Amino acid sequence: MYKRMLVGRDCHGSMPLSSLKPWLQAAPAPQPISASTSEYPSLESTVQCSLGCLGNFSMCVWMIDTFGNEEQRHRFCPPLCTMEKFASYCLTEPGSGSDAASLLTSAKRQGDHYILNGSKAFISGGGESDIYVVMCRTGGPGPKGISCVVVEKGTPGLSFGKKEKKVGWNSQPTRAVIFEDCAVPVASRIGDEGQGFLIAMKGLNGGRISVASCSLGAAHASVILTRDHLNVRKQFGEPLARNQYLQFKLADMATRLVASRLMIRSAAVALQEGREDAVALCSMAKLFATEECFAICSQALQMHGGYGYLKDYAVQQYVRDSRVHQILEVQREAWGNLIPCRDKGNSCHSHPQLP
Ligand SMILES: Cc1cc2nc3c(=O)[nH]c(=O)nc-3n(C[C@H](O)[C@H](O)[C@H](O)COP(=O)(O)OP(=O)(O)OC[C@H]3O[C@@H](n4cnc5c(N)ncnc54)[C@H](O)[C@@H]3O)c2cc1C
Repeated sequence: MYKRMLVGRDCHGSMPLSSLKPWLQAAPAPQPISASTSEYPSLESTVQCSLGCLGNFSMCVWMIDTFGNEEQRHRFCPPLCTMEKFASYCLTEPGSGSDAASLLTSAKRQGDHYILNGSKAFISGGGESDIYVVMCRTGGPGPKGISCVVVEKGTPGLSFGKKEKKVGWNSQPTRAVIFEDCAVPVASRIGDEGQGFLIAMKGLNGGRISVASCSLGAAHASVILTRDHLNVRKQFGEPLARNQYLQFKLADMATRLVASRLMIRSAAVALQEGREDAVALCSMAKLFATEECFAICSQALQMHGGYGYLKDYAVQQYVRDSRVHQILEVQREAWGNLIPCRDKGNSCHSHPQLP
C-alpha cells in the first residue's frame, strides 16, 4: 500500500500528509517528548526516503523541546508530536548554504516583537507546515549573532516562493520562505539571543541520523526489490538469481546495508546518551550511510536492467530520492570540521583522533 502511495505521490508531486498522519501516529512513540533512538528504526521502515522532510520535522520538535521554555514546549510540542501540526527547519538562505553562519535574515527588536526581513531557500515543507523554526540575525556577524525564533503560518509578512521542481523528494514540497516586516513576539524566541546557531547545529545531529535512516530505508527496499526481481526475471534459460555474479552483488549490497545500519544505530545511541563523541559519530554515520545506501540503490537499478529505468518500477525513485541525502545536513566536502582528523598543526594525522 505504502509503495503505491509513494510512487503515486512522486508522480503528482504532492505531500501525502492526510494518508501519512494516521499511519505514522501508529508508529512507536518517541519517549518522552523528544526524538529517541527508537524513532530511527521506525523512520527507516516507515519513511524510506522521499519523506525525509519528516526528519527535519522531528529536528524542529527536538529543538523546541530541548531549548524552549515550559510555555513554548507545552504550546508547540503536543500538536507536533501528534502530527496535527508540521514544522519546517529554516536555516539555508540563497547566499548561505554550507556557510550557514553567514546568514542574513534580520530580526530587529521593536518593543516586545522582532521584525524579520529576508528569505530562506530550499525549505522542506515550506508553505505546507504550520510552524517555521527560523534562524535569524539579532546581533552582529558570525554564529553568535544568530537567534532561533518560531514563526507561525498566517503571521502577516510571512510568504512562500513557488514549489521547486526537483529530481526526487517529490512527495514533499520545497519552497523559499520569505519574511517582509514580519512581526514575531519575542516570547517566540527559542533559547537566549545569540544561541540560535548552536541550537541549529545541535538539531542537525539528530537530523543527520534521520537523513541517514531514510537512506537506509531506500536501500533496504531496493535490496528486497532486487532479490524479488532476480527470482522472477529469467535470462539464459534460468532465473537471474542463479547467476553467481549477481548473487555476490546482492550479498555485497546487503552487507553494506547492515554496516550502514550498525553505524547509524551506534551514533543514535551516542546521541541519546549525550556522549562527547556523538557529533563525530552522527557525522560519520551520515557520511557513510548516505553514500553507501545511494550506491546500493543505484546498483539495484542496474540489476533491474531496463525495467529499473521505468517509472513503473519503484527502484528508480529510491535512486532519485536518496541522492539528495548526500547534499543535506552538510556535505562530504565540509566534514573536516565535524569528524576529527587533523592535529593541532592542521595537517592530516596518520592516526586520526577517532571517537
Ligand atoms: C531537497 C532539499 C531540501 C532541503 N531542505 C532544507 C530545509 O528544510 N532547511 C534548510 O535550512 N535547508 C534545506 N536544504 C538546503 C541544504 O541544506 C543546502 O542545499 C546544503 O546545505 C548545501 O548548501 P548549498 O546548496 O548552498 O551549496 P553550497 O554551500 O553552495 O555548496 C556547493 C558545493 O560546494 C561545496 N563546498 C562548500 N563549501 C566548501 C568548502 N569549504 N570546502 C569544500 N567544498 C565546499 C559543497 O559541499 C557543495 O558540494 C535543502 C536542500 C534540498 C536540495
